[in-house]
Amino acid sequence: MTRDTVFSKILNGEIPCDEVYGDEYCLAFRDISPKAPVHILVIPRKPLESLKTAQDEDKSLLGHLLLVGAKVAQQEGLQNWRTVINTGADAGQTVFHLHLHVIGGRPLKWPPG
Ligand code: AMP
Repeated sequence: MTRDTVFSKILNGEIPCDEVYGDEYCLAFRDISPKAPVHILVIPRKPLESLKTAQDEDKSLLGHLLLVGAKVAQQEGLQNWRTVINTGADAGQTVFHLHLHVIGGRPLKWPPG
């Protein structure tokens, strides 16, 4: 289970988002503080805190999130993009509801900070 987060509030309609895709398993919307010309978040409707708490039963959901990330990246016209999942505070996770970042539209450096 997750704590109440900004993403659970987006999922239940308490706060708005700039949605780009939604289905029965997930929602994708624009990041409020974009780090690149395209910066979209893909979140499961299931309240998973992070990859740390994901289980074998979440295998197809996790695959679905990756494929939705690829779909929305291409919807945005991207040929190249980065998919990022920050797991834990020291890795940069600030919202404890699992999410994929889909980032692109400019050259991206490696490794990230
Ligand atoms: P992370 O640091 O990996 O946990 O990513 C959380 C992301 O959520 C950050 O990139 C934030 O800019 C983004 N974010 C926080 N609140 C909102 C919001 N209300 N709508 C859209 N994106 C948000």
